[in-house]
Parts: sequence; C-alpha cells; structure tokens
Amino acid sequence: MQIFRQSRRALQLQRHLLRYDFHRGHGFRYASLLHQEGYIGGKWVSALSGKTFAVTNPCNGKVIGHVPDMDEADTKTAIDSAYEAFQSWQRTTAKERSILLRKWYNLMEENKEDLALILTAEAGKPLAESRGEIGYGSSFIEWFAEEGRRIYGEVVPSPASSKEIILIREPIGVVSLITPWNFPNAMITRKAGAALASGCTCVIKPAEDTPLSALAIADLAEKAGLPPGVVNVVTASRSNTPAVGNVLCTSPKVAGVSFTGSSAVGKHLYRLCSSGIKKIGLELGGNAPFIVFDSADLNKAVDGFMISKFRNGGQTCISSNRIYAQSGIYEKFVAACKEAISKRLVMGDGLNKDVNVGPIINQSQIDKVEGIVNDSVKLGAEVLMGGKRHELGGLFYEPTILTNVSSEMPCVKEEIFGPVAAIQKFESEEEVLKKANACQHGLAGYFFSQDYSQVWRVARRLEVGMIGINDGLISAVEAAFGGIKESGIGREGSRHGVDDYTHIKYLCMGGIN
Ligand code: NAP
Repeated sequence: MQIFRQSRRALQLQRHLLRYDFHRGHGFRYASLLHQEGYIGGKWVSALSGKTFAVTNPCNGKVIGHVPDMDEADTKTAIDSAYEAFQSWQRTTAKERSILLRKWYNLMEENKEDLALILTAEAGKPLAESRGEIGYGSSFIEWFAEEGRRIYGEVVPSPASSKEIILIREPIGVVSLITPWNFPNAMITRKAGAALASGCTCVIKPAEDTPLSALAIADLAEKAGLPPGVVNVVTASRSNTPAVGNVLCTSPKVAGVSFTGSSAVGKHLYRLCSSGIKKIGLELGGNAPFIVFDSADLNKAVDGFMISKFRNGGQTCISSNRIYAQSGIYEKFVAACKEAISKRLVMGDGLNKDVNVGPIINQSQIDKVEGIVNDSVKLGAEVLMGGKRHELGGLFYEPTILTNVSSEMPCVKEEIFGPVAAIQKFESEEEVLKKANACQHGLAGYFFSQDYSQVWRVARRLEVGMIGINDGLISAVEAAFGGIKESGIGREGSRHGVDDYTHIKYLCMGGIN
C-alpha cells in the first residue's frame, strides 16, 4: 500500500491530520494523498538543500506538516524532467492523453472528500466550499480530457493551384504553472488540464500557504498513470519563491508560463518572460464593481451580493469589491445586506458543519484588510457593522459593511480580499459606469437590473472580462475565465483554454500538379 512507501515525516503528517479530523468526526479514506515531499520526474523528493518549511492551518495556527523548501537547483531538475518527458508526451495521440486525463479525473472524484479535507486544513476554507472547489477543480480535468480531442487545424483555400495551405496546432512544450492559495486545487487543474491535453508537460509551483493540495493532485496524477516528468511539483517558501520564479520564467527549456495571482507579481513575471519571449497567460487581481439599479429584484441582488462578496471570506479574484446601489433602492439594499450577513454568516473552523466563513489566509493578508478598513474610516467611511477583528481571534475578521464610501478610499481603490463590503450610492447609469470603469483592473463585474435595454447597454459598456447579470456566481468550466486591463491576458476554461498551450504551425505544401 502507498502509505508504507512514505517517509516518516509523511506518516507524522498523516497522523496529525487524521487526529485533527477524527476530533471532528471526519476520517480520511486514503491517507496516502498527504505528501511532505515534492514531486519531480515521477519521484517523491526532498529539496536538494534538505531544507523544509512549515504548512499551518490558518484556522488555529497549528503546523500540519513540512514540505521541501526548493530552490533554483530543484527547479532546474524539475524543468529537465518535464523537458525530457515532453519529447514523448507530445507524440502521444489526443485520445491516449484523453484516456489518462479521464483516469485522473475519476480518481479525483473518488477521492474528493479527502481532497476537500486537505484543502480545508491548509486554506481554512469551509468544508462545503472546499467540496465545491474540488468538484470545480476536477471538472477542468474532465473538460480538457474531452476538449483535447477537438484541437483542430485548418485547411485554408490557397491563392495558387500548385499549393495547399494547412495550419496545424502543436503543443508549445514545457510550461511553468504558478498558482495562488485561494483556490489551491482549481487554479492548478484549470491550467494543468489544458496543458496536458494539448500535449505540454508542466512544472507546478503552488503557493507557500497551500502546497499540500498540489501534492495530493500530483499523487493522483501518478496513480492515474501519467508518465514520469509530465507533471512536476516544486514547493518553495516565500523566501525562495523569487529565485524559483526566475528559473521558471527564464529557463530556455520553458516555452510558456501561466500565472494566477496578484497583478504586482504578474507584472514582474511578464517582464521576466520577455527576455525569452515566452508565451504567457496571466490571471491577475480584480476590483469587481457590483451595481444594483433601481429596477433590480432586491432579493436576487442581495443573494448575488452575499455569494460574490463572502465566498471564501471575500478572498476570490472575482469577489465584488466596489458596491454601488442606485439612490432609489440604496436604503433597502443596505438594510437587507446587513440583515443577510447577521442571519446567514457563521464564522469559524471550516470543519464545523454550520460554518460558512473561515479565516483570512495569513497574517499579512489580515493586516492588509485591517489597514484598508482603518484607513478608509480615517477618510470618512462609516462602519455599519463589523470593522474589526473577530472575537475568535487569530486570523478571523468580522464581516463588515462600510458606507459613506468614496472613490479616493483604499476600500475602493484596492482589492480588499476579505469579508468587507464598501457600499456607495449613485444617481444615474452614466455616473456609475464612469466610476466603475475608472479602474485599472477589469476582471469581473456584476449588475442587477430588470430593465431589458439597460441590461444590454451596461453589459456592453462595463470594462471587464466577465459579467454576472442578475447573478453573483459566474465560474464554470464551460465559460472563458479571464480579465482585461491589468487583470490579465488570455482565457482559462472553455474551448479557448488550450490556446495558451498550443501554437499554430503553417505548412505550405507546394509543387502540386
Ligand atoms: P501572489 O502573491 O501574486 O502569489 C501567487 C503565486 O505567485 C504564489 O504561488 C506565490 O508564491 C507566487 N509568487 C509570488 N512572488 C513570486 C515571484 N517573484 N516569482 C514567482 N512566483 C511568485 O498572489 P496571492 O496573494 O497568492 O493571491 C491573491 C491574488 O491572486 C489576488 O490578487 C487575486 O485576485 C489573484 N487571483 C486571480 C485569479 C484569476 O483567475 N484572475 C484567481 C485567483 C487569485 P508564494 O506563495 O510562495 O509567495
């Protein structure tokens, strides 16, 4: 059994997590999903330096394990493995890759409860949300198992009878996949599914806070029979991450980089990639406007507000951030939001059944959220509810509503990434569109209106990549996910998700009699 092949430290981690879960009546079916080693070239390995870093549960600060603190040398080894594996993986047929991806997906489905428990343990996400993320995450492997068989070329009408023009799509090569902590499973599968289906191999660099989910995904890739080197996971602490990132973006053996994370880091990686003209996909930060027009269905608007603002405690890139309510509905909307927060949100340990808001991921993030609220209040924002750390202590911050908010405040200018809603009043459609578009980010936006003409006008004029119209939950594997402006380049999911991992090769077949 897999469990006996693991190191002593891995077994300690298992015992720790098992204890953690048994206390609450949960049990792992396959403890072998927990790894404390990186995954390179089909082997579970320590860092060449022998260094490790701790993974903690943000809910209680307890250390739940240690993983290798890898550096440039380990990263180069992983890239070499991926490069070697690419030589044969690129020549497998789309059907062969599809069969392996399907096996990987099936294993994720079979192990979804364990994957969700690991996710909750390292990210603090309420278990119901973790289950949702695992379902969403595995759906990308299923989708690309199917979509990979439809990466078609083109035969283009030629201007000369002696020539044929043929365009074929080829995998670009080794890709570096750098992912954040807020969706430790789905942000990996959304990239890796598309990359592998296209015929690329990959090196995954998960966030420091959430490496265990990445390693569990790799474990299932191994069990599904993906050849050694096709999937590699390099774990690194925040201090080693810049050096690891440098290699991932500049190695001549890397053909492309796909990054999900903050705009600041995205810009840095974009610069690094320019030296080697790497193909790049960037899924970056947002600052989503959420607009409620007078004609809106109030109940739908409040439901949309609750899900778009408080899913993952407000720590999603598409969380509504700048909330605008028109003067005719403003008072009713604010009062209904306050009531919904009081009645519907339960904060605490994500393993408890009733909890639907967990902690902020780490100390620097909660300090940032606190700073944004305090600085906004200094500039005149009023705290309608919350506005401080939760009595649970640690990394818990109270669900908060700020009113009397204006455009110069940090709660409007910055991506809050916490359970804080900053609500502004507006008078006209023209005014709110001007305010909503006065932003360098353009990931998601939401609006609620029952005026048919207004729906079309506003949908066309909002400067974002994705819009929820009378809906606060927009993520789906079938949809093209991505932003404009400083929110990114490229799209993930949908049939467009393979574009970042393929290039077009033009074959000019001449001399035809
Ligand atoms: P982050 O600080 O940019 O980190 C994201 C990833 O990049 C982590 O793995 C991080 O590693 C790594 N990283 C940081 N500095 C790096 C460097 N110099 N070289 C290479 N890698 C580096 O973002 P985050 O705080 O984890 O995530 C929150 C942000 O992600 C928000 O802005 C959110 O909007 C955005 N996001 C966007 C999407 C989308 O689809 N558009 C989805 C989810 C999140 P360490 O953990 O070791 O620092």
